[in-house]
Amino acid sequence: MRDLEILSGAFEKIKAYINNNQDNSKPVVQFRTPAQLKEVINFKVEKNGVSEGEFLEMLDKYLEYSVKTGNKQFLNQLYSGFNFPAFIGEVFTVLANTSMYTYEVAPVATTIEAEMISLMNSYAGYTDGDGIFLSGGSNANLVAMFSARNRVLPESRFDGYDRSQKLVAFVNAQAHYSFETAANVIGIGAKNVIKVKADNEGRLIPAELEKEIANAINRGETPFFVAATCATTLLGAYDPIDEMAKICKKYNIWLHADGSFGGSIILSDKHRHLMKGIEETDSFAWNPHKLMNIPLICSALLVKKRGTLQHNITDINTDYIFHDIDAIEDLGKKSIQCGRKVDAVKLWFAWKYFGLEGYQNRIDNLIDMATYAESIVNEHPKLELLSNRQSFAVCFRYIPSKETDLNKFNLELRESLRKSGKSIVNYGYIAKTLAVRLITANGELQKSDIDLFFSHLLFEADKLES
Ligand SMILES: *Cc1c(COP(=O)(O)O)cnc(C)c1O
Repeated sequence: MRDLEILSGAFEKIKAYINNNQDNSKPVVQFRTPAQLKEVINFKVEKNGVSEGEFLEMLDKYLEYSVKTGNKQFLNQLYSGFNFPAFIGEVFTVLANTSMYTYEVAPVATTIEAEMISLMNSYAGYTDGDGIFLSGGSNANLVAMFSARNRVLPESRFDGYDRSQKLVAFVNAQAHYSFETAANVIGIGAKNVIKVKADNEGRLIPAELEKEIANAINRGETPFFVAATCATTLLGAYDPIDEMAKICKKYNIWLHADGSFGGSIILSDKHRHLMKGIEETDSFAWNPHKLMNIPLICSALLVKKRGTLQHNITDINTDYIFHDIDAIEDLGKKSIQCGRKVDAVKLWFAWKYFGLEGYQNRIDNLIDMATYAESIVNEHPKLELLSNRQSFAVCFRYIPSKETDLNKFNLELRESLRKSGKSIVNYGYIAKTLAVRLITANGELQKSDIDLFFSHLLFEADKLES
């Protein structure tokens, strides 16, 4: 009884929240310091449970002080937006609470995951591919590197990795830090991830890659893994996969595409050329929780060759879980997780809801919005574009009238904008220059949202100048 009453109260709050996402006059965050937060929310778990009213109040407070990532002024991270069918998918997934290891306990979800992997593989051009959903792009990169290690040193699964084998990996100097973590975890060591020089736009330079590979071989090392980043975190640059594939073929090195950020561009007929050569890669990390706006976490690692993932897990004998009686592959045999959350179902709900073409349009819209934001920067006398836009990231800064430390000014600008609660945008450094980074990740962004963002930014800049 009590639970059902809470449920109807919660339902009203969900409806109000979803409505507010569309309302640009609502703040994207009500900024509070940790100490201030403790004043407005009682975080302590106490001896007796709370009343129904107190429970509903907890729901309110949680939403009130969380960052509204579904608000269109949230332009901070590589993910954003509120995806209604995917939200429903998430709720129903949790409601059923099945686990991905066996068909026995998750028959529908297992079949859905297989369908999603097969659809994603069709975009990647992996005709005999396979894949698995896992807990994020970082872990997809880890499993890719792990698979590459097991290809060159199959016995390392049993014997462990011996440093005398000197495996080395190569990534764009601006690649995601998860490759170093991966090398650490699988025993190669983070120092053996070699950072290859990028050009001014942030793309790995193939000739530099080949030079680094040759140097490593001369040092007696064994190159085993190369990653092409498909949209780097700061500049949104796409590495030239096709040229990197030629080099990897020549030296027989595993080529991975880290599309954790920009992999979803493969859905777009217009822009897919940025990933030319993807079918030549051995693996591909694709995060629907970024540009497809699926609630976190929704992330897949695709592999070109069926059997690769099972091979990693070796012949661990766990009869008590895997009975092999349902004439379908138990996905747990391909995963480094045992219990695994169902992350494919929310993607399936969303893809079914929007359709293949609908999703393509959402991705095209993201590029259109980034192009629009770039044009505003180019046209405004006080805004300076700091790097040619490649995809979904626009890096710029504000130039005040009076001479001043531009890094300091732009950092303050970003902070005062964030604390105003009106818009959130991130920043990073291009060499030593602080760049404000605007990301178009929310598939429902419109020009008016971008206009509003710049009017908020310019308002704060004006305040700082005076
Ligand atoms: C976000 C990102 C990652 C990490 O993905 P998570 O899902 O956050 O673990 C890896 N590589 C790139 C290029 C990314 O943008």
